[in-house]
Amino acid sequence: MQALPSPAEAESLIRRHVPRLPIESRPLASLAGAVLARSVRAERDQPPFDRVTMDGIAIACEAWRAGQRRFRVAGTQAAGQPPQSLPSGACLEVMTGAVLPPGSDCVIPVERITLVEDFADVDPAAAVEPFENVHTRGLDCREGDLLLAPGTRLGAPELAVLASAGLPRAEVHAEPRIAIVSTGDELIEPGEPIEAWQVRRSNAYALRGALALRGYAQITEDHLPDDPRILAERLRQHLENHDVLVLSGGVSMGRFDHVPRTLRELGVTEVLHRVAQRPGKPLWFGVGPAGQAVFGLPGNPVSSLVCLVRYVVPGLQAAAGLVARPPEPVALGAAFRVKPSLWYFLPVQLDSNPTLGTVALPRPTRGSGDFVSLPGTDGFIELPPGPAEYPVGHVAPLHRW
Ligand code: AMP
Ligand code: MG
Repeated sequence: MQALPSPAEAESLIRRHVPRLPIESRPLASLAGAVLARSVRAERDQPPFDRVTMDGIAIACEAWRAGQRRFRVAGTQAAGQPPQSLPSGACLEVMTGAVLPPGSDCVIPVERITLVEDFADVDPAAAVEPFENVHTRGLDCREGDLLLAPGTRLGAPELAVLASAGLPRAEVHAEPRIAIVSTGDELIEPGEPIEAWQVRRSNAYALRGALALRGYAQITEDHLPDDPRILAERLRQHLENHDVLVLSGGVSMGRFDHVPRTLRELGVTEVLHRVAQRPGKPLWFGVGPAGQAVFGLPGNPVSSLVCLVRYVVPGLQAAAGLVARPPEPVALGAAFRVKPSLWYFLPVQLDSNPTLGTVALPRPTRGSGDFVSLPGTDGFIELPPGPAEYPVGHVAPLHRW
């Protein structure tokens, strides 16, 4: 039998096969979290003029060097006003953000001056040097410089840069339309009466939460019984209306695990079935006839959540053209023993340790159905097969919930 792919191999297979989401133009105010599809270049030099950085007075350094300490206040230069020239021998009152008045080359902060009628007396100990308290034109960037590359996720700093480039809209990858579909005859919606042999439908809420916390908002949900006919009919509809399907349950080897076969019959090409990991080994991934990304997550709640974080999230990022970031390394804060012949996903709680800094404390569950142990954990680390004991300080990639 062919060896199962490792988690890293499975992730890269998924990244390579997810189709790219279309590109659309959206207004600036709607872009938080979106992924840029085109380069953004500087509209102008930044700052676009020699900019005053302190409230005070602008003078010519030459006058100071010649021994002048008292300056007539010839007027005021506020932010947003066109530049006024400095009359010789005088000063202009200037405000933070104003243009440095032509003829002046230095700003003395208000704390260093005493106003006496129309004159400013400058503290003789003031530091007066050319371009003191001035942010000179083009210091931060030049007109036409590349400010943001395609594949950049737009957070707060990037949005400020976009706005400063004068762009009211930007071209970004469209938000994916995601369907979360749980399967299983045993599952009962919270709020509905339940029998002892039935189970609450909890996965869909965890999966939706993990996606919502990452900014994915176009999510619809459905629940399907373990009936191949109904499964086929409804999955066909979901494929028509979504870019991404996230299914939970029905992908294992049981007699009622109809998901992989049904998807194949609907023209979804299987790319991956099963990964060398615990929990979450039965993971299924395929690509639909119109390029839909279809994830079949195992139904056990710990498995479905780790698979969402480990595979669906990177898949969604790749679909948006987002450049992959290296995983976040973290050191184990306590030794952990396990007998893994597969990669082991260990839930952890982050803590700070005086010598090791941020560490991960093992919080193993009692199997893949034990999601009650997960609250309070921050995510999971990925331990490679091999040693039976991972010592304190062992560094592993962290995946946050
Ligand atoms: P399956 O992958 O369908 O074989 O399901 C494996 C286990 O996970 C079974 O015990 C299911 O009852 C449970 N399970 C499946 N789907 C969910 C769900 N949406 N919420 C909670 N438990 C589930
Ligand atoms: Mg099932």
